[in-house]
Amino acid sequence: MAGYRIVDHSYDVVVVGAGGAGLRATLGMGAAGFKTACITKVFPTRSHTVAAQGGIGAALGNMAEDNWRWHMYDTVKGSDWLGDQDAIEYMCREAIPAVYELEHFGVPFSRTEDGRIYQRPFGGHMRNFGEAPVQRACAAADRTGHAILHTLYQQCLKHRCQFFVEYIALDLIMDGEGVCRGVMAWNLEDGALHRFRAARVVLATGGYGRAYFSCTSAHTCTGDGHGMVARAGLPLQDMEFVQFHPTGIYGSGCLITEGARGEGGYLTNSAGERFMERYAPNAKDLASRDVVSRAMTVEIREGRGTGPHGDHIDLHLEHLGAETLDLRLPGISETARIFAGVDVTREPIQVLPTVHYNMGGIPTNLHGEVLNPAPGDPDRVVPGLMAIGEAACVSVHGANRLGTNSLLDIVVFGRAAALRCRDTMTPGASLPPLPAGAGDAAIERLERVRHADGAKPAADIRLAMQTVMQSDAAVFRTSDSLASGCRKLADVFASLADMRVNDRSMIWNSDLVEALELENLMDCALATVTSAEARKESRGAHAHEDFPDRDDANWMKHSLAWVKAGRVRLDYRPVHTYTLTDEVSYIEPKTRVY
Ligand SMILES: Cc1cc2nc3c(=O)[nH]c(=O)nc-3n(C[C@H](O)[C@H](O)[C@H](O)COP(=O)(O)OP(=O)(O)OC[C@H]3O[C@@H](n4cnc5c(N)ncnc54)[C@H](O)[C@@H]3O)c2cc1C
Repeated sequence: MAGYRIVDHSYDVVVVGAGGAGLRATLGMGAAGFKTACITKVFPTRSHTVAAQGGIGAALGNMAEDNWRWHMYDTVKGSDWLGDQDAIEYMCREAIPAVYELEHFGVPFSRTEDGRIYQRPFGGHMRNFGEAPVQRACAAADRTGHAILHTLYQQCLKHRCQFFVEYIALDLIMDGEGVCRGVMAWNLEDGALHRFRAARVVLATGGYGRAYFSCTSAHTCTGDGHGMVARAGLPLQDMEFVQFHPTGIYGSGCLITEGARGEGGYLTNSAGERFMERYAPNAKDLASRDVVSRAMTVEIREGRGTGPHGDHIDLHLEHLGAETLDLRLPGISETARIFAGVDVTREPIQVLPTVHYNMGGIPTNLHGEVLNPAPGDPDRVVPGLMAIGEAACVSVHGANRLGTNSLLDIVVFGRAAALRCRDTMTPGASLPPLPAGAGDAAIERLERVRHADGAKPAADIRLAMQTVMQSDAAVFRTSDSLASGCRKLADVFASLADMRVNDRSMIWNSDLVEALELENLMDCALATVTSAEARKESRGAHAHEDFPDRDDANWMKHSLAWVKAGRVRLDYRPVHTYTLTDEVSYIEPKTRVY
């Protein structure tokens, strides 16, 4: 196509994304002998994984007795029975070797007195099938993601994987048979387009928190992989399940890790009451995130919020003492000082539930292979395409993710994807030629957006979208709010036709990057609100006030959303109600109390 310099590449495997998921997959592919490229829009160690604070879950039992079966039970219960139990069994069992592997790779975990990996309590992680909190979160102080990401990057360099840094992946290359054959990317530094041909493309592009106004995620979390998959005519799964973290800093949205409550922090309302004792008598402040976020929202709504406007909640750490805060929560103390002006040794932090994690994403099986469910074949695989990490929906988190289970998810399934390639592919096998016109659709889209000459800057349209999501697809939802969300979002989508991109250059053009990201976010937002509007029950993070109960008879199923040109088509696929092996049996649904 005229006007663009196109550089062609051939690899066994191309991984898109260099967060924890992408890097774990990349190093595994390299170790298995595959010629591997990793494309990333930010430098690898700046991926959002770097911000993960609290820990990675594994039943090591270093602090007290623990068992991966208890971890599995907690994860199934946390998921409100929407998680696939075969995948959950795999993740919780593999957690233990996965953490030891990270330790051997060089992750500097915090230590106990006798030198073992330190573990702290975290919400929803309990001993003996839900009895009382257990210490399961393996932590490197409150900078666990930072430690993991840097270590994985070093391992990738060791295996000589090739990095394409500050390249934006634009679209998948699909052939007429529905096989993924590669991916198109734009090099921000010199403006060239790169056509990657590969036997496998692995999407590890992270979440889409930026579809909301207030979130803890990085500005780069724009659902690019989700957008690519939608444009390839493939569905997104369980997009209505968006996790609100109970403790984002009021105003800035910066995260205060749940590890703060794990170390003994607690929440109070305007009466100074530790209200979580009323909502979750056993787990209290360490109940599952959806439960705590809803309790906080109810307290505020009923007039017991703190502050001059009664619109937030207090998180207390003062009683922990300067020494513990310094040893276990140094990053949090700093974040609170900078973003809330609070000295945590003296006063509480003002917090509010804030968008934090996307349980939904690109549907995959437990090998990381992307699914394109068809009638009678709900587990049909898309040849050549994999997805892992927050971009994917395996589904191990179901309707609500437990803290520490995402760092776990990214390393376990990043590794699983590499193992699957090792077992099903040959390094250096010759690749069929690309179909005629491969990559043209991606270039046409780029051209269209680059020359958008309407009246509205992308930032204005993005703000309109974020405002709708924040007000109409929030902690609590109603039939009215969701119907209005669908209507308003359709209008925002229509306004994309009137978008304006001022900078037409191909070099470091952040105007164009933001416009492309906005299209991806919009697909995610549409899938989220439409799937939420359709789901007439409450489950996990989807709290529907007109349908307050979970309805297993009608709704224990995964939502699928095909998004095309602003329209969303929905369908469903069954939850896996079986385990992977006979070592555990299926955990029957019951009422979820903490
Ligand atoms: C503040 C915070 C704290 C958290 N704390 C914890 C915790 O303590 N424990 C826990 O288990 N979980 C935690 N989580 C969740 C967890 O950190 C994330 O879900 C997880 O790190 C996501 O990893 P990822 O590899 O899937 O994606 P990311 O780390 O987000 O990486 C995405 C990658 O994709 C690349 N990319 C995206 N789009 C493109 C494109 N178009 N072209 C090229 N590259 C692209 C980016 O450059 C980046 O490298 C936390 C999350 C946040 C936001």
